[in-house]
Amino acid sequence: MDNIVIFGAPGSGKGTYSAALVEHFGYAHISTGDVLRGEIKADTELGRIAKGYMDQGQLIPDELIIDMLANVYDSKKGSKGVIFDGFPRTIAQAEALKALLNSRGQDVTAMIELDVPEEELMDRLLKRGQLSGRADDNEETIKKRLVVYNEQT
Ligand code: AMP
Repeated sequence: MDNIVIFGAPGSGKGTYSAALVEHFGYAHISTGDVLRGEIKADTELGRIAKGYMDQGQLIPDELIIDMLANVYDSKKGSKGVIFDGFPRTIAQAEALKALLNSRGQDVTAMIELDVPEEELMDRLLKRGQLSGRADDNEETIKKRLVVYNEQT
């Protein structure tokens, strides 16, 4: 099974590239941001906790996201491969991913980094905010997310 990590700042195009890889190779897609937005929509306990962090442009605590990821990964068992989009975002998460994969006889197959200049990221995220209405795609929160990316990811 292929385990592909797609890595890059908010707005770098991880979701867009993931969709192309899913279509071309038939991989399963795990976007931790999408999973969290689903939890918020379903008004689960995790969703309620996550919303506070997401609205502030901050990362969800490692232990919460790592537990969630393990469950989602196991639900994709039997697929040809998985794309990790938006995970890992901290060193603890990278270590947890390695441990999770190794405990299942797997490893990271490849990592793709999307490197986009910051002015371009801001421009794209503001446009996405206008189109999708994502609560965290506003100028103030985007700035915080880029600081968090540079400092923690
Ligand atoms: P994204 O859709 O990947 O831009 O993620 C949106 C928000 O979800 C982030 O700003 C974080 O608050 C949260 N999030 C997504 N993935 C992670 C992660 N791996 N670790 C911590 N928080 C995350």
